[in-house]
Order: sequence, then structure tokens, then C-alpha cells
Amino acid sequence: MRLVLLGAPGAGKGTQGELLAREYHIPHIATGDLLRAAMAAGTPLGEEARRYVSRGELVPDEVVIGVVRERLAAPDAEHGFILDGFPRTEAQAKSLDAFLEESGRPLKLAVFLDVEPEVLMRRLSARRVCPKCGASYHLESRPPKTPEYCDACGSRLIQREDDREEVVARRLRVYQAQTEPLLDFYARRGLLVRVAGTGTPAEILARVKAAIEEGVK
Ligand code: AMP
Repeated sequence: MRLVLLGAPGAGKGTQGELLAREYHIPHIATGDLLRAAMAAGTPLGEEARRYVSRGELVPDEVVIGVVRERLAAPDAEHGFILDGFPRTEAQAKSLDAFLEESGRPLKLAVFLDVEPEVLMRRLSARRVCPKCGASYHLESRPPKTPEYCDACGSRLIQREDDREEVVARRLRVYQAQTEPLLDFYARRGLLVRVAGTGTPAEILARVKAAIEEGVK
């Protein structure tokens, strides 16, 4: 099982990626998480990424491609992976193709989580995340049991810097301009499946699993 999750910011890639990883026992590899971890650790990669992430812009292709290649070479990704937030540009998609072909394990499926823009805006403004373990909540539809604290590890939740309204607007524009064209890219290769991304996480998961079982044969 080697798949990419496509969708706008707030489409639910992180939530579905986690659920699918548990279901299929393969790693969920989210470039946003990898970059945020590097930023929190203050590494040179993190410092470079911060300049783009905080403004809602894309980190340069060569930087992100390097991060993903290294992560995909790790032993736990040998038997499959779920990529979330990568690729985001055509150059990234082509580089991923080349890398996977080289290692004899081509991509099986690209799952597009389809969500309308108004829903995306509402989800992103109400999103709260755990800075320690990365768990994600929604103030109304998926609140933590104790307000403001992570169910999983008890840390105080925060709003991602790039979930602020002015940055969200830029991220959605960047998505439309640079990432949406990838839907065609994968459709042309016969790899794209479209899944309605509204409803509860469990409802969406059921649709995604059905699409995977249909698409990965
Ligand atoms: P995400 O958590 O996927 O919303 O990513 C947060 C931010 O990290 C994005 O707004 C970008 O600044 C950066 N980022 C994550 N993945 C990529 C990627 N594949 N290419 C470029 N920038 C990325």
C-alpha cells in the first residue's frame, strides 16, 4: 500500500492519515509534521522552513524533496506508506514518481479528499493542535475532553501559527495555484480517486477504505 493523500489545507489529510496508518500498519508521513518537528528542534532545516511556513508559502521543492526521500528510505516505509501534504507541486510529484520507480515500488493510489472552501475555512479556524504529540482537535466537532488540553498527553493545546485567518487565506490560494493541478496529473495516470471529505472522521474513513480496496488491486 503506497498512497498519497491529496486535498486542501483542512481537508482532513492528517486525521485520515493517522486512522489509515493504524488500520494498515504502515507509517503516516506528513511533511508538515516533519517540518514543524525540525522547526521545534531549531535545526538548520527548521530555521529555513520557518520562513515559508509562517507566511503560508511553500517550502522550496528541493528542500522538501530531500526530507521525503530520506524518510521514505527508512526501513518502516519499505512495506508501504501514506504520504500527507506531499507532493504539493508538479516538480514534487515527478520527483516522487522517479524515486519510487527507481526503488521498484511505484505509487498505487492518490486519494483526493474533496471538501468545499467554506468548510475548509471553518475547520482551520477552529482547529487546535497539541504541540507535543501532534494530536488535532476541532473546537466544535472534535473537542478535547478537558477544554484546552490534549486527551492523549495532557499538554496545553495551541492554534497553529499558520491557521490564523490571514495566513489561511494565503495557504488556500497557494493550494489552488500549485497543488490542485496535481489532481489532473494523477487522473491522467489512472491513480486518482475522489472521496467526499465531509462527515465524521469514521464516515470518511469508511469511504476512503472502500476507495482503496477498489483502487489498489
Ligand atoms: P501542512 O501541515 O501540510 O498544512 O503543512 C504546513 C506548511 O508546511 C505548509 O503551509 C508549507 O509551508 C509547508 N509544507 C508542508 N508540506 C510541504 C510540501 N510538500 N512542499 C512545500 N511546503 C510544504
